[in-house]
Amino acid sequence: MARFVLISDTSLSHDYRNTPLLDFLASAPTSSLPGSIYHFLKGPAPPETGGRPLFAPYSLRKLEAALLRAYSHYEVAVAHEDHLEEFVDDDTELIGVTTMDPLGLGPLTMSYSVLFGTSAPAYVRKEFEELLARINRARAGKQRKPRLVVGGPGVWELTVRPEVLEAFSVDYAFQGEADDIAVDLFEYLSGDSSENTQFYRGFQTFDRSFHKQWVENEKFVSRYPFSRQFPKLEDIPEIANPSIKGMVEAMRGCGVGCDFCEVTLRPLRYCPVEKVQKEIAVNVAAGVDRVWLHSDEIFAYEHGADYAPNEDALVELMRGVMATHGVDRTNPTHGRISIPAAYPDLIARLSEIMRAGPDNWIGVQMGVETGSDRLAKMHMPNKTLPLKVGQDGTWQEIVLRGTRVMNTHYWRPAFTVQVGQSGETEEDNWETVALINKLSNSTLDDGRPFEFTVTPMQNVPLGHLKSREFSSLRLDQSQLAVYYASYRHLAKMAARNAFSSSGDPNPLARLATGLMVGLGSWGLFQIVSNICKKGGLDVAKAERHGLVASATPRPVGS
Ligand code: SF4
Repeated sequence: MARFVLISDTSLSHDYRNTPLLDFLASAPTSSLPGSIYHFLKGPAPPETGGRPLFAPYSLRKLEAALLRAYSHYEVAVAHEDHLEEFVDDDTELIGVTTMDPLGLGPLTMSYSVLFGTSAPAYVRKEFEELLARINRARAGKQRKPRLVVGGPGVWELTVRPEVLEAFSVDYAFQGEADDIAVDLFEYLSGDSSENTQFYRGFQTFDRSFHKQWVENEKFVSRYPFSRQFPKLEDIPEIANPSIKGMVEAMRGCGVGCDFCEVTLRPLRYCPVEKVQKEIAVNVAAGVDRVWLHSDEIFAYEHGADYAPNEDALVELMRGVMATHGVDRTNPTHGRISIPAAYPDLIARLSEIMRAGPDNWIGVQMGVETGSDRLAKMHMPNKTLPLKVGQDGTWQEIVLRGTRVMNTHYWRPAFTVQVGQSGETEEDNWETVALINKLSNSTLDDGRPFEFTVTPMQNVPLGHLKSREFSSLRLDQSQLAVYYASYRHLAKMAARNAFSSSGDPNPLARLATGLMVGLGSWGLFQIVSNICKKGGLDVAKAERHGLVASATPRPVGS
């Protein structure tokens, strides 16, 4: 039986019927979204063979690959969520769980909690707790109780509420990237290694200015302070088994330096095309013809001075992806809007390589964060590079210009904006409302309306997260207006695209998903609208703010 059993938080292991943005559904509060609808839209669990999932979250596949360097396939088991118990027996030493938003403290989940004024757990938290309860039942009564470690990008939430580890009988939380040290870490945590010269018992935390602090805590395991904190590129293994949605990575780190973003602190590591292709081949062998190319900022791939894109490197990367045997489509996961705004020819070239078109929109998540020049300059002065706010137009003009370029070439950005940023004023939020309204009312030269989604994210001060008082946070009218404008546009987009956006191969499921997404977005907007009206928002003002009084508002820029 397996010595090490790996599993992910179940909110990460489904494909959400291959419908854009439905992955966000697990952030909804359980009190606001009926379980039957959530579970239908989440889609079925992945197929399995021998109790192992055919597809697993990318982070879990990376950990598996790192362990397979020292252990056999029999010793390391990624367990399917319906078959976990079959892998845990007297030989099992350690169970590892990877998680993204275990306590529901992520900015999207918080946006629902604050907007709906509820402390009811989100689905992400409910499923995390249910998984831990199952693991604890499975390991109870074993001759030598396997230890339980939680890792992944959501571990920061456990540093905010470390008492949760005790409450759920979690032995350890590991913080950080583990590709190069996974074997030593698992040996250490499973108790076979008497020496510990490699691991610090505690965690890193950051203040609002991203100053690093180390906090001792026996439940947490990290690399030693002042030692190398991240694996080198050559120590990062390629996945050995298929990942969900055909995800592979192109790079790690970002370096753009937005002051609210932890990713910027990680060193840049670019995966050569051959490395990317090896991972794609693993997914293609499992029948996947689509590549989700992960990075936190794809246009920073081998970037030049002032974060100018390296056009040759990007072209070579995309050519390499599309030329890999079996690949039909690809999309990068994240990028900056200033690059399409400044380099329309690059987007045209990439679109041609990626075969973008009316039947193949390239979806990409982009953090626009604000419509305010003041906040853009304050929190993310480099995100606009190589353009400069003021010199090359306002931030709104840059975003409008970039969206026009992207839509012209059939890229559909999924924007996020922030509410509750430090130093934010009501005027800043109204600038964000103006930006959303301008985008929502803009058309391309051929008359097509702008295609984009926008999702508000809530910044909640750490103090509130610690005290669990976030449901008592009151949104002011300008913040409500950002939510109102965002969900109004989302309902408009869903009415237009709900039936065409689902990639579910089953036509009936596609129809049902389309109906639920269309009606659900309309219903969600009605709920948000009522909350905003109750909060005193002048919704007529929110609908027209930023629009000129002409019949067909046009964006500034070209
Ligand atoms: S561009 Fe994106 S990933 Fe990079 S630092 Fe800014 S927010 Fe973070």
